[in-house]
Amino acid sequence: MNNQQGQAPAKEERQTGRRKLDGGRLIRGLGAALAPGADLPDALGIIVREAHAAVDCGHILLSRYEAAEGHFRAVAWRSSVDPGDTSREQKFMGSSYLTGQPVVIHDLSQHNHRLRPPGLRSLIGIPLVASQGVVGVLEAFSEHPDHFSDLDAELLTLFAKTAAAVIERADLAQEAKYRQAENDFLSETAKLEQASSGGLFYKLGETFAAVLNVDGIAVFGIEPELPDSQLQEIMARGFADTDIGRLKTLYGKENLRMLTAAADGGGTKIVRQTLRRNGSGPAKLIYTVPIIHRRGLIGLIVFYWRHIDKTLDTAGLESFIERTVGHITTILGRRDIYANIQRVGFSDLLTGLANRRLFDYVLDRELKKVRRSSKPISLLMADLDHFKAINDTYGHLAGDGVLEQIGAILRAIVRNVDLPARYGGEEFAVILPDTGREQAMIIAERLRGAIAAHQFPIGNGFINITISVGGVTWSGRETATGDASAELFITAADQALYQAKQLGRNATVFARGT
Ligand code: GH3
Ligand code: MG
Ligand code: MG
Repeated sequence: MNNQQGQAPAKEERQTGRRKLDGGRLIRGLGAALAPGADLPDALGIIVREAHAAVDCGHILLSRYEAAEGHFRAVAWRSSVDPGDTSREQKFMGSSYLTGQPVVIHDLSQHNHRLRPPGLRSLIGIPLVASQGVVGVLEAFSEHPDHFSDLDAELLTLFAKTAAAVIERADLAQEAKYRQAENDFLSETAKLEQASSGGLFYKLGETFAAVLNVDGIAVFGIEPELPDSQLQEIMARGFADTDIGRLKTLYGKENLRMLTAAADGGGTKIVRQTLRRNGSGPAKLIYTVPIIHRRGLIGLIVFYWRHIDKTLDTAGLESFIERTVGHITTILGRRDIYANIQRVGFSDLLTGLANRRLFDYVLDRELKKVRRSSKPISLLMADLDHFKAINDTYGHLAGDGVLEQIGAILRAIVRNVDLPARYGGEEFAVILPDTGREQAMIIAERLRGAIAAHQFPIGNGFINITISVGGVTWSGRETATGDASAELFITAADQALYQAKQLGRNATVFARGT
């Protein structure tokens, strides 16, 4: 590096009049920026601070270039004004930087350009070129024309190269994290064979929450085949209840329809918003990610960071989101082939069974089928006996553990065509399509017997638990009358269940009839 030759005398003089370059400080600064433990915002902050110390200039500014948006985001600066974000078109020399070539302008007043920064006369801009392309730019400005020396240019180039290396390394590390999370998600969901989309969405929410370090995340499911499709809360962290309510209103029917329409072309349409309270202060970054399956909106993920990280590689982030959400629709698509029913449903997260919403939906559909086909349908309602005593003795959490195991037994006993559901707290229901009274009674007894025989681990030992079961069977005869509603069907099973309790519990009673 030398600037002995070919320099205008005026600049030489100014050069000698300037503070000396502190070589020790320069080396320590670069070392700190490159230190393995330094996080990206800190490292870039150090680079700007040290570049400002080494190069005499009025303003210095490091921006990260966001290719997906075509935006330069100011990350660190020494300037009297907050440079903010600028689009490639709005940034002075923005397009030149993207060629990867340094820009040196000795007299900005010669540049008759509407984007020329006011009050500034000379500029050096060094693009940050990493293996993935241009990832930013380091710019130094001066109020004086013809201000910068060759040494300044070389120093800035050194800082720019350091910044590019630091960004490249951080992006690669982040990408490795994304890939790891994606693999974990895939192997976890492969284990969730029985789970419906609700389970998948839950897992997706957990994955995002863990890898993205968000301040809040909410995952909603939407059942496209239900006429009154609304957001169903599947998981939420870092959102107050009132916020969840607000989100549900915000994404009311109209908005959902718009999101669905936008998604009709296929693929994931990620919506990114930055919110600034009162127009100033740190901005909040919010993502809204629709989950699309078969051209329908089946879920929605909303997450946010309280303070936007300006060094964030949004392109990397968004491609991670797209891939992971893509896996969901692939898994669901594969599952459609085997289990048509599970596609539309949301499981109860404790037991993995269908929840009440899916139960109601399926029962309604199955009853309508009976009306047309004359095949019978049966329904079992089961309620745990004296369950309150178990909660009182072992605690609510232990009680939940029991419910979870009951869910597993239910799933194991019933046939693939049946739909076991968690009807309420400790009440379960099983829809038995195409099943007459005899057969339904056999299934009910098998279920009651299996639970009575099971040793439930609890505390340090085991306990026995029983259930009472009420059943009902309808065929075309009952359903033909027109007022044969799902409500009446359930009431009939409930009344039989009540009788089973009256008989002393651990019993099965079927409604009289067919
Ligand atoms: P029985 O049904 O035999 O008449 O007696 P019971 O004690 O089970 O009475 P009931 O069904 O009316 O009470 C249900 C109890 O189940 C009340 C509540 O403590 C408990 N329960 C309901 N939902 C849950 C749940 O999600 N988790 C846990 N742990 N307990 C629940
Ligand atoms: Mg009960
Ligand atoms: Mg009970």
